[in-house]
Amino acid sequence: MNREKLRTPCYVVQEQKLRENLEILREIREETGCRILLAQKAFSMYRVYPMIGEYLDGATASGLYEARLGYEEMGKENHIFSPAYREEEMPEILRMCGHIVFNSPAQFKKYRDQVRKAGRSAGLRINPECSTQEGHAIYDPCAPYSRLGTTLKRFCEEMSEEDISGLDGLHFHTLCEQNADDLAVTLDEVEEKFGPYLKRMKWLNFGGGHHITRADYDRELLKKCIRHMKETYDLEIYLEPGEAIALNAGVLLTEVLEIVDNGMKIAILDTSAACHMPDVLEMPYRPPLRDAGNPETDAQNGEGYIRPYIYRLAGPTCLAGDVIGDYSFEKPIQIGDRLEFQDMAIYTMVKTNTFNGMKLPDIVLEKEDGTCEMVRTFGYEDFKSRL
Ligand SMILES: *Cc1c(COP(=O)(O)O)cnc(C)c1O
Repeated sequence: MNREKLRTPCYVVQEQKLRENLEILREIREETGCRILLAQKAFSMYRVYPMIGEYLDGATASGLYEARLGYEEMGKENHIFSPAYREEEMPEILRMCGHIVFNSPAQFKKYRDQVRKAGRSAGLRINPECSTQEGHAIYDPCAPYSRLGTTLKRFCEEMSEEDISGLDGLHFHTLCEQNADDLAVTLDEVEEKFGPYLKRMKWLNFGGGHHITRADYDRELLKKCIRHMKETYDLEIYLEPGEAIALNAGVLLTEVLEIVDNGMKIAILDTSAACHMPDVLEMPYRPPLRDAGNPETDAQNGEGYIRPYIYRLAGPTCLAGDVIGDYSFEKPIQIGDRLEFQDMAIYTMVKTNTFNGMKLPDIVLEKEDGTCEMVRTFGYEDFKSRL
């Protein structure tokens, strides 16, 4: 099957693009000796876990179910972090995960004996209180009153010498779609605050948010940062990017169902921002669309002119705000046309929902030879079974 035969809406993940990203990540691993894990929360298409496992060291999870998925489908290193664990989950987590990261001293102390008895590695997430991102406060774990990570003050007050000796590693995660300069700033702060403790650890996890596979990412600086921490403190370094693994590695195909003109032309698609790309509304952002421009910025961004046909692209749900954005085209679009939203592998299929009884997009893998493998199709039962 090739792309033209696919029914819409569907996510098409491109094996070749994924492999290109993985090759970049493998090079970082090989040149620095760090370990890189897939953060499953961004991309959990387990059909390609065996391939990801060829390049990376394993996976990390935000909770029991992701941990189980990584354990069953990748079967390599398996890490977990959660702000709070349930007692009844801990035996299963300890069976499947080699590294368990706690968010607070109290959680660490509650489970440390179990972790030690199981022969697993215990870590504590720290909060270096170093915000390097503007704009997206909901993605800033260093924002005021953040629940994520232990601040130096809490660390000093609540961790005794003996507690610290029971820790194998520290973990921080403070970045989101950022370059290596922000990592360097963060590491300065981590060293300044937690330097004395780092010497007593076996590993340090730099979290995710490293946009390593983006064209302008400063990989040399990343390597320098990794080597510096590794050599200064004799640590195993972990990175756990999500986005960087499947960045630009998939598209969402959709069809134009109807066009209405209420002061401007509005194309109603068979895909929904609210159901199929919720980050468009949550973050918010405007996804790139193939062969279309942005009427707001085209004249300034080097394209030099605005394509003449402008449409608002919107979903078929009842939510008035189910709008993906305004796009400009070279020629009028027609009912039945297919459109291709780009960079739709990450934070999409892990976040879909069936609000309004919307059908979930099929999941397709486009192989390196251009043929398409249907990985998963969805129907009415998937809607009904959740309710
Ligand atoms: C979200 C998250 C990641 C992955 O972040 P990306 O921005 O997708 O790279 C890694 N680790 C933790 C703890 C996270 O919360």
